[in-house]
Amino acid sequence: MFRVGKEEDDEDEAVLDIPIKAVTVSAIGEMQKKDPEILRIKQDMLENPEDHNAKKFHLRSDVVYYKDKQLQKDIIYVPIAMRLEILRFCHDIPLSGHLGFTKTYHKIKTRFYWKSMRKDTYHFVSSCDDCQSRKIPRMRKQGFMQLQEIPGEAFAKVIIDVLGPLTRSASGHSYIVNCMCATTKYMEAKAIRHADAESVAEFLVNSVILRHGTPRIIASDRGTIFLSDMFTKAMELLGISQQISTFNHPGTVGLVEKSHDYLHVALTMYTDANQKNWPQHLQALVFAYNSSIQLSTFYSPHFLLYGREPILPIEADATLTNHLSLQEIINNMNLARSITRERLMIRQKQYAKYFNQNKRPVSFKIGNEVMVRKDKRKKGLSSKLFRYWYEPYTIIDQIGDVNFVIESVRRGKSYKETVHSDKLKTYIQRTEEFNEPA
Ligand SMILES: [Zn+2]
Repeated sequence: MFRVGKEEDDEDEAVLDIPIKAVTVSAIGEMQKKDPEILRIKQDMLENPEDHNAKKFHLRSDVVYYKDKQLQKDIIYVPIAMRLEILRFCHDIPLSGHLGFTKTYHKIKTRFYWKSMRKDTYHFVSSCDDCQSRKIPRMRKQGFMQLQEIPGEAFAKVIIDVLGPLTRSASGHSYIVNCMCATTKYMEAKAIRHADAESVAEFLVNSVILRHGTPRIIASDRGTIFLSDMFTKAMELLGISQQISTFNHPGTVGLVEKSHDYLHVALTMYTDANQKNWPQHLQALVFAYNSSIQLSTFYSPHFLLYGREPILPIEADATLTNHLSLQEIINNMNLARSITRERLMIRQKQYAKYFNQNKRPVSFKIGNEVMVRKDKRKKGLSSKLFRYWYEPYTIIDQIGDVNFVIESVRRGKSYKETVHSDKLKTYIQRTEEFNEPA
């Protein structure tokens, strides 16, 4: 038998570290008055109101908004002085989780506007040192891709997995149990001490069933927990049918594996050097994931579950959040979910095809700045929370087709190494404009 709720977990206290104040319309309005780009637009609007460019904007209480046709709402024009703060908020902090360009850009453009925001976001994300040093090296996966059925309802089918062992946290947690809705991709996760059937079943009840209802199907890999008597009996009692995938990946479990990659990378960004405080950041990172668009659906899991994007702490009254009626929200959600189902089916087929392809060749030139992949690590630290790439080296010579001599200068001394191009990637330096003021 499994019990619902054992003694209260004294999970490491969550840290919600929000380094900036929420931006207000009046603060942005004041800054707009000092911004040359915005002043020019204002002038255009007054002098040539019928002009094509002037018509893209809208003036309300002397504040400039961009008329976003796609989103069908007015979005505030962010003055240059505030852009770095918004980029940092939407990428750097745990609530944003150091996600890639597409996700970060989507988060920004649904809430803020400035002309060069696409370019700026791209540069900001691709020049992020944390992202560059910690992205998991691409590995070739093997196995067969099975096409999966996707139900129309949220949380009718979930995929569950356990990640770890990670470095044992100060409070004794070493694993993360992770559950994802197959339809909306919405994720729930929890730090657990032991990878056992009881902890997983308890998580399933408290964090999945009591929040989202009882799934009809629960998919997993052939892990011993999921095959255990205790777990299969619990599923039987709850009326959930188990779907166990024959192959480790990709198929069913591929989805969860990708979220694992995300959690690995994201946790490394926010943990201290001895990696003991990772559970403090877990829920913020799960929020970051749920509130960002998924490349397979083009919606955020939050949107697919609730019919709207979450309001971020930075937004306050800065964005014109259209107040939707309940009916509109339901319509949004239903439409989005049916589009999602189709997209996921198409995506699965494309993914299956891509799966058998080889990786592309990479070429470097002498003088290029590169990062180097290193596999050794300090004893006692979990490789799951490890940085993979070290920066920056300069390529000073090429040997044959694939080997390069690289050099780094540390404390006035030069260090040289010869490495295979497989272990190199281009390093992108952040331009002055986006550096923290000294
Ligand atoms: Zn980053």
